[in-house]
Amino acid sequence: MLSSEEQARLRLEVFADLEHFVDSRGGFASKEELTGFVMRSGLRMPLIDTGRGIRNPQEFDASLSIVSAGDGGRNNPYDDAIDRETGLLRYSWAKGPVDGGDNRKLLAALHAGTPLILFEKPLPNLYVPVFPVYVIDIDLENRHFIIDLDDSRLRNGRDVPLDKKYVDRLVKQRVHQPMFRARVLSAYNKRCAVCTLKYPELLDAAHIIGDGDERGLPVVTNGMAMCKIHHAAYDQDFLGVSPDYVVHINERLLADRDGPMLQFGLQAMDGKSLELPSRRDDRPDRDHLAERFARFAS
Ligand SMILES: [Zn+2]
Repeated sequence: MLSSEEQARLRLEVFADLEHFVDSRGGFASKEELTGFVMRSGLRMPLIDTGRGIRNPQEFDASLSIVSAGDGGRNNPYDDAIDRETGLLRYSWAKGPVDGGDNRKLLAALHAGTPLILFEKPLPNLYVPVFPVYVIDIDLENRHFIIDLDDSRLRNGRDVPLDKKYVDRLVKQRVHQPMFRARVLSAYNKRCAVCTLKYPELLDAAHIIGDGDERGLPVVTNGMAMCKIHHAAYDQDFLGVSPDYVVHINERLLADRDGPMLQFGLQAMDGKSLELPSRRDDRPDRDHLAERFARFAS
């Protein structure tokens, strides 16, 4: 059995390796990739357990990961299990007593304040890791473990109220944005819709209607996979996409002369058809594109 220091070190190594792994895959992983996960040290470390929503490796006294229950669907914006108001997730405990079976190591995580990995599952075989998360409490009556996105309530007590804006931002940054990016990149087969660049590390999910607008939902039809430069150009209206899925470059940029990035990266994209998701239902909403294109064209 590993000492608690060794366990803590191994856990952090797992987190770092998982981050490295999903970064190169657009922020998500498949079931096969997670059940067959091998650490960079060569140690085999399955990150999920098929058939149950919790992973309790023998190396650890406390659980390593839990999987959120819902398969949300492509265009369900808020399919995670996080409560909007509190920023907390309720995780149903397995059959049997709270200190027995699978529950025992989750209870250990609560007592020791051990960080865990939460896998959100916006689509059946698309796992988006959110970590670290913490078990901060237990609801004995409803048989729930209460999971938090950070450890502030664990440290300061459940009763210290958190600022609503803080909770909103936390949920958005830690859960909604990564899930939006994963769904959009998956729909676009991890390629930029403008130039087809295929390196997930360089790809974002661009909003069509911005997320500051209440209609700017984090759904696939309000997004397009774009490389960093095309995303920035789109946000700055240097690049527009018309409702017939054609790329347009701003007149001023077209008239300018500069190096290869301007010439090949931007000017050459003018008039190009957008690379669309193969599923029709995933294609950008034309009304949203029209509204956004009006801003580009004005
Ligand atoms: Zn691009």
